[in-house]
Amino acid sequence: MSDPQSTRTATTVATSSWSDLRAQLRGRLIQPDDADYEEARHTWNGMADKRPAAIAQCSDADDVAAAVNFARDHGVLLSIRGGGHSIPGHSTCDGGLVIDLSPMKAISVDPAARTARAEGGVKWGELDAATQQHGLATTGGTNSDTGIAGLTLGGGEGWLVRAFGYACDNLLAAEVVLADGSRVRATEQENADLFWGLRGGGGNYGVVTAFEYRLHPVGPTVLAGPIIYPLDQVREVAAFQREFMRAAPDALMVMTAFLTVPPVEPFPEPLHGQKLLFVVPLYVGPVEQGERVLAPLRAVGHPIADAVAPIPYVALQQSLDAVLPRDMHIWSRYEYLRDLEDDAMALIADHFLQAPGPQTVVVVGRLGGALDRIAPAATAAAHRGKPYFAWIIGGWLSQQLDDQGIAWTRGVSEALQPFAAGGTYVNALPDAGDAQIHTAYPPQTYERLVALKRKYDPGNLFRLNQNIVP
Ligand code: FAD
Repeated sequence: MSDPQSTRTATTVATSSWSDLRAQLRGRLIQPDDADYEEARHTWNGMADKRPAAIAQCSDADDVAAAVNFARDHGVLLSIRGGGHSIPGHSTCDGGLVIDLSPMKAISVDPAARTARAEGGVKWGELDAATQQHGLATTGGTNSDTGIAGLTLGGGEGWLVRAFGYACDNLLAAEVVLADGSRVRATEQENADLFWGLRGGGGNYGVVTAFEYRLHPVGPTVLAGPIIYPLDQVREVAAFQREFMRAAPDALMVMTAFLTVPPVEPFPEPLHGQKLLFVVPLYVGPVEQGERVLAPLRAVGHPIADAVAPIPYVALQQSLDAVLPRDMHIWSRYEYLRDLEDDAMALIADHFLQAPGPQTVVVVGRLGGALDRIAPAATAAAHRGKPYFAWIIGGWLSQQLDDQGIAWTRGVSEALQPFAAGGTYVNALPDAGDAQIHTAYPPQTYERLVALKRKYDPGNLFRLNQNIVP
């Protein structure tokens, strides 16, 4: 068993040992001499520029078990990659082994039972496309390129969160390779303690090779889209939305984004490059009903444009993709807010004018609804009962802006403290070993996660994550 705190890399592993691992895999083992190493080592955040000793592109759970056993037996630093969107770059490492699940893409949907099983390398765009063929969906992230794995294991927020809860609230089963290489299934009935920890505790407990989700009727056409305002209308917009959303049905989600309009379709050319306020509702239900529910929200202030319309749910799920491009440098902070206060929104607008790059986005979203009907102790995703979140996503394209961008993002988060409801979201934490891990969980949840880590991964093999130290 490796030393729990060791950061030993793979430089001491003999070439012959890597050859043994290669021979065991049905998938490929890619090393620095291979032609596609550069592509294979790449993850989403341009700041995570690391060089693993090897990348095991796993074909199945046996491959995953072989790679887990190898990393443990050789004391090799281990990363797990689902969709590769880790903001702190946990799904890559210098000198270690990456278990890359990207070839594991199988999806099966049971429309009668309203369930779907998806392997660990599936991304939200792929799962949504498969489930929407049956007019079904589950809560997923707002960027179609994000992996289902990391997002679900950390909780998982998105457009459907008020209607159906976190992504992990819809998890029915997980197939897991544990640190000792054994394979187990976790559900409410089987390995129930592990199942609790997998719903919010991140990648701390094993490699999840497949996820089974509960699905719900959604669309495939939904009423959604942006109502776009100049930033100077932010107070009026916030004041109305605050009262309006108090009585809103769970079927209505609204996210408000401060963003710089990217120079791409479908954004109208005259708006390209402008810093604007996008109020984006989604109504999960019949379009005509949504038109009635949304009418007051669409009558507020003097919008530059109102693009709310019946659109495919999958189009909504892809609408942020162009705003947050792969390879951008990203560093984020996340605050729960006690309400949608005018002063907080005006403060964000002021800061946003100094944003470090046009890829910077601040998203303020309404929580509540189905999220709050689940007891905080029921899953490790325990921050419930918080009315709003503000996700400050600092984004830019050049390494030279890293220090300035991080300082800006941290500055907005600090300025928002008078409006904060406490706590943060584990999937939004920016750094490996970020001290904020303790604010991502209430103290009792954290203690339970530590006890679970001692049981399932006492050697801390799975430590390149928001680490729960055993
Ligand atoms: P990866 O980088 O592959 O994995 C992240 C970490 O998760 C890994 O290091 C590992 O610790 C763990 N992990 C991954 N796969 C497995 C597995 N199969 N078994 C065990 N552990 C595993 N979050 C939201 O909730 N809602 C959003 O709308 C949202 N939007 C985002 C948009 C962008 C552009 C980005 C960069 C992030 C976004 N996130 C969002 C955050 C996202 O949830 C996390 O970054 C998440 O970890 C990404 O999952 P992944 O599988 O793509 O990442």
